[in-house]
Amino acid sequence: MNTENLKFPLIYQHNAEFAREIHAAKEVSRLLQKVDFPGDDVWIDLRFDYALSDHSTSSLDVMLIRGQPHGIVKLNLQGLYLMQDFEVMIQQVIPHEIAHILHGVKAKVGGYEIQKPHDEEWAELFINLIGGVNHDIEPSAKVRGEFDDRAIRLSKSGILVECECGDDESLEVLADTPGNSAKLRNEELECTSCKFPYVRFTGDTLPKRIAADQQFLEKIKCIKLQHSPLQR
Ligand SMILES: [Zn+2]
Ligand SMILES: [Zn+2]
Repeated sequence: MNTENLKFPLIYQHNAEFAREIHAAKEVSRLLQKVDFPGDDVWIDLRFDYALSDHSTSSLDVMLIRGQPHGIVKLNLQGLYLMQDFEVMIQQVIPHEIAHILHGVKAKVGGYEIQKPHDEEWAELFINLIGGVNHDIEPSAKVRGEFDDRAIRLSKSGILVECECGDDESLEVLADTPGNSAKLRNEELECTSCKFPYVRFTGDTLPKRIAADQQFLEKIKCIKLQHSPLQR
């Protein structure tokens, strides 16, 4: 698919190409339009990033020109999570991150520093984006969804370990640090559920779910690599 032809109002550039990415980009665009985001002057650069550690991140490079914000905002969404829990990504993660962007622009225009990213002002912006108070979707610092980041952490050369919980649940991925390696050797890292120490995974094959995610990530990386990166 040629992504150059895909345009979403108020999104300056993006790397959406798969159905779920396109759907997510449309939702980002819809919410930005809803709050009259000054997209002519503040360019939104939307990326689906499959290496992201979190569900989403954003960064602002905005300055004031005659009191109006100008600049670039980078909005990153973890694409694997769109496959794992599309609904939560659309209903919660996207408004969560857009609220951060609006918060950041507001602070810039108002000339103040944000002390706590998930403060009341951010929560208000979030609630407005989701269309009013909804007790099923409370503003929170970390959105909980059916997200499984083990394949992502494995792809960053994490150490695969297992405990006694059984099945899929007994596998964890630890950051490959000298500290973790030493603790692992001394059986100092315990699973919080079964209380057994983690040991290096010795099985031949990965559990299905992680293996499927891993395959998916590999495939996506190949496809995304073939496409020219976005401009800065
Ligand atoms: Zn946040
Ligand atoms: Zn366990």
